[in-house]
Amino acid sequence: MFPLYVIRGEQNLLIDCSILAKANAIEEKLQELLGKEKIDLVLLTHSHYDHTGACSHLQKKYGFEIIASKRTKEILENDNAIEFIDNLNQKFKAILNDHSNSTFTKPAQVRGIGENETIKISDSQLIEVFETPGHTRCSLSFLLKPENILFPGDAAGVIEQSGKIKPLFLSSYTLYEQSLKKLIAIKAEILALPHNTAIKGERKVQEFLQCALREAQKLKEEILAALQNTIDFALIAENILIREFTFPTIMGPREALLINITAMVKSIFHEFVKIQ
Ligand SMILES: [Zn+2]
Repeated sequence: MFPLYVIRGEQNLLIDCSILAKANAIEEKLQELLGKEKIDLVLLTHSHYDHTGACSHLQKKYGFEIIASKRTKEILENDNAIEFIDNLNQKFKAILNDHSNSTFTKPAQVRGIGENETIKISDSQLIEVFETPGHTRCSLSFLLKPENILFPGDAAGVIEQSGKIKPLFLSSYTLYEQSLKKLIAIKAEILALPHNTAIKGERKVQEFLQCALREAQKLKEEILAALQNTIDFALIAENILIREFTFPTIMGPREALLINITAMVKSIFHEFVKIQ
C-alpha cells in the first residue's frame, strides 16, 4: 500500500514517509538497501498522516533534513496538527495490531520550498518543484530530471489495486483539476505514486492522469446531484462511503475516509453551489 522511493546518489533522498506502524519495517529495508550510507534528505509531498507518519522516527536515526511546502512546514510546527497526525497513526497501528508505544512527534529541520524552485542532487541530477494544491492546500509534486520521474503525492488521487482511480480533492476541486492539468503538461516518463504502484511509460502516464481527471469530474457531478436533494454533507459522505469506498485499497481508519469524503462534498458545495 505504501511504496517508498529512494533516490540514490551523492546524497540519498527519500520521498514521503508512510505510516508510523511501518517505521520499523522501513528502517530494516533502508538498512538492507543503504548499508553504511544514510538518508540525507526527505521530500514530503504533503502533510497527511500516511505520508509523514514514520518521519520523526526515521529522522531520529538518520538526522536528515526535510523539504516540504511552506504550508506543510507550518502544519508540522503546529502542536494540534502533530497531535492529529499522531492520533490517526495510532488508529492505523491498532488496525495493524501494532501495540508498541511509538508516537509521531514534531519533526526537526523542515525547510519550506515552492513553485519553480529546484533541489540539486548531483552535477547531473536535480528535482523540480511544482505546487499542486487541491488534494490539500500543502501539496507539492517533485520531478526528477533528467529521468523525468514524477512524484505527485496524492495530487492525482489514489489508484486501487484493481486499477480504479479514486479522486481526492480534499481542499479544492477547482485547484485539484488545475493541478492535474499541470501534471499532464509535464509529460513524465514514470509516475511514482505513493500508494500501490507506479505507472511506467509516457503514454501510460498520460492515460492515467487523463483518467484521474475524468474520475474527478464524475465524482463532482455525483456530489452536485446529491446536493440537489440535501445539504447534509455528512449524509452525502456516508452514502458515497458505503457505495464507493467499501473496500478501499488504502485501508485506514474509517474516520479518515469519512473526513476525506466530507471534505470533497464541502469543496463542491462551496465552489459550485453556494455561489449561485
Ligand atoms: Zn493525502
